[in-house]
Amino acid sequence: MTDQHSQANDPLPPPLPFRGEGVERSETGEGSSISDPASRPPTRRDALRRALLAAPALLIAPALLAACAGAPTRTARHDPFDHPAPTVKPYKPKWHPLPESSLADLPRSVIPRQTWAKGDPVPRLMNRMLPIKRITLHHDGMTTFTSTNYSAAKSRVERIRTSHRSQNWGDVGYHFLIDPAGRVWQGRPLSWQGAHVRAQNEGNIGICVMGNYMNQRPTQAQLRQIENFTATLMRMYRIPLREIHTHLELAQTACPGKHLQPRLVSMRNASGTLARVG
Ligand SMILES: [Zn+2]
Repeated sequence: MTDQHSQANDPLPPPLPFRGEGVERSETGEGSSISDPASRPPTRRDALRRALLAAPALLIAPALLAACAGAPTRTARHDPFDHPAPTVKPYKPKWHPLPESSLADLPRSVIPRQTWAKGDPVPRLMNRMLPIKRITLHHDGMTTFTSTNYSAAKSRVERIRTSHRSQNWGDVGYHFLIDPAGRVWQGRPLSWQGAHVRAQNEGNIGICVMGNYMNQRPTQAQLRQIENFTATLMRMYRIPLREIHTHLELAQTACPGKHLQPRLVSMRNASGTLARVG
């Protein structure tokens, strides 16, 4: 692999700045009106603020009681300053062997990852995929690969997965891989964001054409399948033609190779198959 593929391996958001406790004036001046009570008649908010500053302990008991009684989650801690409560959603990844909802509608000819992968995806290293909005085409950029043998392709997909996992990615970076016989292998499940274009993996389906197209030419079977399968995904996820890319159109790389790039470009031309999808 010579590509600079990458993944955002950072499923946890950075800690949110804590706001609202013991802060009288925010950096944006949000709190300025309440920090100058002499400039206008006192309000209920001022009264609350004074009560809080004077005797914070008195507010703890009512707040606890309110929580027990199923009151709204806003507590006295936040009310006087009208700051939003910090919201940190716990990250709860789930591994779904089958893609969710519409993701299960993949063509039956796609070879499921369970038939070839020797390891499961690692959810904590991946982000959720949806919504899907674009497709990017690649080659694997490894050695020349022209075999149409099933087992040879199966081994190569696993080799790619192992290579990507060794970089601590959650799974093979591509969602689909197309071998020289035109078979489509399921890679990373579509419910997970891929790892194939640096900083542009959000909603981006990664399709890898197996082989190195700096050194070899795509087979007719591959070209037909690239067109058909890409068109299928475009219809399934309502992806417009302008969102069909090759890797080198999004990043500095030779991927998908000088012998494949022009073929992919011609598929998008006015007379190409992909231009007629819709
Ligand atoms: Zn690439």
